[in-house]
Amino acid sequence: MLLSIVIPVFNEAQTLLLLVDRLDEALQELNWEVLFVNDGSTDASLEIIRVAAQTDKRIKVLSFSRNFGHQAAITAGLDFAQGDAVVVMDADLQDPPEILPQMVDLLLEGYDIVSPQRVFRHGETMFKRWTAALFYWLMARLADRRLAPDVGDFRLFSRRAVLAIRSFREQHRFMRGLVVWLGLREATLPFERQPRAGGETKYPPLKMLRFAWTAISSFSALPLRLSTAAGAMLSCAGFIYLFYVLYLAFRTNQLVPGWASVVVLQCIFSGMILLALGMVGDYVARNYEESKGRPLYVVNSAVNMSQPEHTIARASILIGPDFGDVSDREPDKAARLAIVAVLDPQLGGKLVPPLISR
Ligand code: UDP
Ligand code: MG
Repeated sequence: MLLSIVIPVFNEAQTLLLLVDRLDEALQELNWEVLFVNDGSTDASLEIIRVAAQTDKRIKVLSFSRNFGHQAAITAGLDFAQGDAVVVMDADLQDPPEILPQMVDLLLEGYDIVSPQRVFRHGETMFKRWTAALFYWLMARLADRRLAPDVGDFRLFSRRAVLAIRSFREQHRFMRGLVVWLGLREATLPFERQPRAGGETKYPPLKMLRFAWTAISSFSALPLRLSTAAGAMLSCAGFIYLFYVLYLAFRTNQLVPGWASVVVLQCIFSGMILLALGMVGDYVARNYEESKGRPLYVVNSAVNMSQPEHTIARASILIGPDFGDVSDREPDKAARLAIVAVLDPQLGGKLVPPLISR
């Protein structure tokens, strides 16, 4: 079994060689390769990994023309990784390579995804911990309840899971969300997050905020639909107020002429405008969801089924040509059987056999 380790790199010159040493030490029992995705570094990172790759063929390098962002670098890594299992981890050694063998063991037990969960964060500021806690709390409520707290992008994927993730081609992406969205079998493994081995975080507060917004907006159209609720409430308030004014007019004589009709109409009409806006928002939201072109469903296993003759577009079918259940077989066998219907319009939504290296 070949294990590919995908590492997004943005100005990490200080830690790269140390990282390769630690991987080498930790993975002696395994057949592995490491794929560095240089995300437009402006320091010596690219030179360092290029030189290292000359003497060690297990080191592979993919370099972007400019900085496209962490999530894009992970995407490219998963697109190019050839392993039977793929790990994504930080370049800064916050994710300890020493737990990789344990993660691989879990994968061999039949899990498609192994997610280390940070039970303790060494060397992170109070600010980072609090904002992270708030972020996970908000995400679970707004986007997806299944998003586990304190699980980051450090993850191990089976070949099947990688194939499924490749079928997402949306631009503003939140990888963790996509992984959870797939709903494949997942194991979590507690670990202590280490301090950075060198350099500084590449997520300053503003970038973190933008990232949080991408995460929320790519999984929830709630903000677009909010004005429907506001409109409905305001209209209701207008009508209730109308009854109150009618009561004042007919039962008492405390009414100022002309004022009530203006206030009531104002409430009702503003409410209706907001309601209409919310409806437009709902169509925009549906359009937005369509434009992401996600798979309509993910098939994990099937029994007594034969392969359909027609091509299936926009679906992730993670079962083999014989449609046998592969979920409980060894990952590399599962990988050989796996096939994914890719929704990519350029491929005409055809069934595309996976890129298997061996
Ligand atoms: N990274 C990247 N592109 C970016 C920002 C970060 O490739 O625009 C990489 C970075 O080199 C690191 C990983 O993504 O390997 C995570 O970034 P960082 O460790 O700074 O985030 P933190 O762990 O502080 O949240
Ligand atoms: Mg980090």
